[in-house]
Amino acid sequence: MRGRDDRIASARFDAVVVGSGPNGLSAAVTLARDGYDVRVVEGAEEIGGGACSAELTIPGFVHDLCSAVHPLGVGSPFLRSLPLADHGLEWIHPHAPLAHPLDQGGAVLLERSVDATASGLGADAAAWRELVGPFVDRWDALARDLLGPPRFPRRPVTALRFALRALRSSRSLTRARFRGERARALFSGIAAHSMLPLDVVPSAAVGTILGIAGHAVGWPVPKGGAGTITGALAAYFRSLGGTIETGRWIRSLGDLPPARAILLDVTPRQLLSIAGPRLPALYRSRLARWRYGPGVFKVDWALEGPIPWRDPACARAGTVHLGGREAEIEAAEAAVARGEHPKRPFVLLAQPSLFDPTRAPAGKHVAWAYTHVPVGSELDVGDRIAAQIERFAPGFADLVLARRSAGPAELERRNPNCVGGSIGGGSQDLAQTIARPLPRPDPYRVPGTRLYLCSSSTPPGPGVHGLCGWYAARSAIRGSLRGV
Ligand SMILES: Cc1cc2nc3c(=O)[nH]c(=O)nc-3n(C[C@H](O)[C@H](O)[C@H](O)COP(=O)(O)OP(=O)(O)OC[C@H]3O[C@@H](n4cnc5c(N)ncnc54)[C@H](O)[C@@H]3O)c2cc1C
Repeated sequence: MRGRDDRIASARFDAVVVGSGPNGLSAAVTLARDGYDVRVVEGAEEIGGGACSAELTIPGFVHDLCSAVHPLGVGSPFLRSLPLADHGLEWIHPHAPLAHPLDQGGAVLLERSVDATASGLGADAAAWRELVGPFVDRWDALARDLLGPPRFPRRPVTALRFALRALRSSRSLTRARFRGERARALFSGIAAHSMLPLDVVPSAAVGTILGIAGHAVGWPVPKGGAGTITGALAAYFRSLGGTIETGRWIRSLGDLPPARAILLDVTPRQLLSIAGPRLPALYRSRLARWRYGPGVFKVDWALEGPIPWRDPACARAGTVHLGGREAEIEAAEAAVARGEHPKRPFVLLAQPSLFDPTRAPAGKHVAWAYTHVPVGSELDVGDRIAAQIERFAPGFADLVLARRSAGPAELERRNPNCVGGSIGGGSQDLAQTIARPLPRPDPYRVPGTRLYLCSSSTPPGPGVHGLCGWYAARSAIRGSLRGV
């Protein structure tokens, strides 16, 4: 009798997708929607990659293992085109996308309304309006042109206006535009999502696009946790006839069933190890130079009650940035880039259970936070993260029922795409933004093969938006599948 492995090895598919992260599933959905016979093969026992949830601490407390807050998910032109609500995805919008508490003065808030945000920025109100205002009603055009492979924009005027404002470092943008600490702190905290030092291009572009997204589409959390995004993608994929196998790590192309196209939701390091000998020599040597980092240290808490923010306005936001003034955030991110661990790290915190009661038992809460650390770091910085929360929410420690930490090694053990704890599929510096992973008109296709890279190591890069998978699948249809 043939075993399960033999049966799979002899099956023939139009396409096989390795990895069930948001991009792998998005690639699979795109192909299945076009009528192709698609199999997803996932190494972990659960699907979802960087968008999954579990009761990590205490039964009844649902934590996000990786992503928690999803401006690019709700704003993704691709995800918006899918019937994911029919498969269980429901976005919950906190009252405000983001709060940024300061030691002196009230917290700065990124509100849904541009005017409400500007009114909290004192002398910089007009500068904030001028930075983001022209784009808020043009989100769809902006997302289509910026969140994809480099190419001539469909709306060149909008894209050019964006580039003139934002194609620079966060530091140069805040120096040029803002006079006060409040706007500078708010912007630099958002720009730190780039995982770049704040004096490096294009950190301001990431800050600007996420700021615009806050107004245009919000920074929502999915009801039930991030796993419902990939859960809905998987359910829709299955409804289209697709199949998913979990618990099978692919170590070489020989582990895969025959298929006309193979899409890999992996980063360059794994692509080299899975397909090395089949890759063209030049391509291989460029992939070997791919840069990762920084890493991430993450902590999840089960809490007795809501976080006791000194400024209660912080409880209006789903996300809270903890790092104080711009100079402190800049110093922390610069230290990480030098391979150091800042004493006062910049912390990104989410408090989803304030807005989604399904995440914890009545009256109780979950909190999620991470900070950047040098790639491959082995230092436990959980206490430094907790100290930053305590700084702006005295009494936080007294509420902790349970805590679970994950440093770079643990993150990589759960998901090999998190190389050295790096969560972005590779650094987002200017070179690796333009050439992701190589400077080619079709960056998804491995030249001369039927292999396609579909992870966040391709444009437009990290985030739960499915766009890397969508573009890669379209490339596979053009390159290997059309006419099948
Ligand atoms: C701690 C953390 C916090 C984050 N926060 C946010 C956030 O709040 N908002 C946001 O938008 N994004 C966030 N992100 C980033 C986001 O999770 C990623 O950008 C996104 O998941 C990338 O999707 P992907 O499909 O490219 O890769 P992944 O999600 O990494 O999925 C890759 C999948 O491939 C599988 N795989 C890899 N190698 C193999 C193999 N050899 N064989 C079989 N299977 C394999 C993996 O197990 C995994 O399931 C965060 C990430 C982390 C880690």
